[in-house]
Amino acid sequence: MEAAIHECMAFNSCNPTGCNSFIIIVTMRKRILLISLLVTTIAIIIYSLVSTQLYYNIALEDRAHSLEVYVNMFDEGAYPLDDEGAKAFSDELNGARVTFMDGEGNVLGESEAENIETDHSDREEVREAIGSDSGEGFAVRASDTLSQEMMYYCRAVEVDGTVYLVRVAEFLQSQWSMYVRLLPSLAAYFIIDILGCLVFTFIATYFIMHPVEELTREAAAGGTVKTRYHELSTLADILNERNRNIEWKMSEVEEEKKLVERAQNSKNEFIANITHEMNTPLTSIKGYAELLSSGMLNEEQTKLAVKTISSQTERLTNLIACIINYNEIDDDTLPPYDVDLSKLAREMLAVVKPEADKSGIALIDEIDDNVIVQSRHELMTQLLGNLIRNAIRYNKKGGTVTVELNYKRLVVSDTGIGIAPENMDKVFSRFFTVDKSHSGKNGGFGLGLAVCRKICHRSGWRISVQSELGKGSTFTVDFGLR
Ligand code: ADP
Repeated sequence: MEAAIHECMAFNSCNPTGCNSFIIIVTMRKRILLISLLVTTIAIIIYSLVSTQLYYNIALEDRAHSLEVYVNMFDEGAYPLDDEGAKAFSDELNGARVTFMDGEGNVLGESEAENIETDHSDREEVREAIGSDSGEGFAVRASDTLSQEMMYYCRAVEVDGTVYLVRVAEFLQSQWSMYVRLLPSLAAYFIIDILGCLVFTFIATYFIMHPVEELTREAAAGGTVKTRYHELSTLADILNERNRNIEWKMSEVEEEKKLVERAQNSKNEFIANITHEMNTPLTSIKGYAELLSSGMLNEEQTKLAVKTISSQTERLTNLIACIINYNEIDDDTLPPYDVDLSKLAREMLAVVKPEADKSGIALIDEIDDNVIVQSRHELMTQLLGNLIRNAIRYNKKGGTVTVELNYKRLVVSDTGIGIAPENMDKVFSRFFTVDKSHSGKNGGFGLGLAVCRKICHRSGWRISVQSELGKGSTFTVDFGLR
């Protein structure tokens, strides 16, 4: 139960406007921001690599095409096949590198470098141009001579019936340097991306967290939460279920608290009643005992004192016996058995007859035979004894007491003093007596009907009273059988 209270408190302390939900939002924002940054960064990097590759391929095609166009421009009459001719042709081609070679790949003229290797037959583009039917060859590589990435195009041309090779080459931007050149614009994209991610994160957390926040706020307020978002309906159900459980546990705790309070009050009241009931005989016994010990009483007074002490002692003994008996009914766990209530009721009428005769009260027997109930002998004797004795005790001279018994109910009615409507509910309470001056006489401590009620409750029977002041009372025990 303590755990339940703790849980209630822990849940109610979750203030959605407080730091808990703030922390949740901040953590969530951080995560969304990090994830969106990571995803977009990876996307940007992949995109830039792929696009650089594509761009590079397109640049290669363009370059190859322009090199072909360059070689088309070669005019064998205009350029001698030596270094001078190569430089002149290079100038014509906006500085593209030009190499003239004989049909074997031996360099005849070169526009860029001097003292270069004279045999170029091992170069890929040269080999291709010599070996292929088309007489053309392409290659992309870092130039051995110029140590830079270049694209080469070599074509075989015929001058005066002799085959020569014309090779043109241009610098190429490497894929990596292309990428490096892209970096400043990539950085700009990154900044835009970060800003975009921040805005996205803010909007996303707002749209995701706002309904969740609303839910938790409503749930913390203790009401039933509702959501128009399908995705949150499970959360709403869980919160509602939890709130219901908490309410239920709280009411259980309350109920238990009330029961404990009631039990405590009833215990206090019980003790107060007992001490009150004991006080009167004890005071009387003490007073007479003191008088006796003073030796001032004459013989007659002494007899009266002894008689009073004896009767008050008996009254105390009776009270204690009644209380013990009353409490024992609760602790009694002995099993019930078949009791012939008809027989017991008739025996009880016989027992109380002398008492009834003293007041001229007629006892009327309306008892069916063989009424068997599930209880115990001594309990049924107490039930019958208390009801029938009360009917005689609170009767008028010359009145009647009727005991009616069948398999459905036991009814004890009298033509006595009756019970006032305001006392009707109280007569079954412990220590309740209408006439306090009467209390204690004939053992009337107000416990008889309380005992009857206990016995009936044990068996699941209902006991009730109907009465009219001055006309009589009827006590009914309903066995609950139809
Ligand atoms: P008691 O020992 O005082 O009779 P009970 O519990 O048997 O205690 O009865 C409680 C009170 O109910 C009695 O003091 C009396 O005032 C009232 N009472 C019980 N039975 C009757 C009855 N048959 N007619 C009128 N009053 C009754």
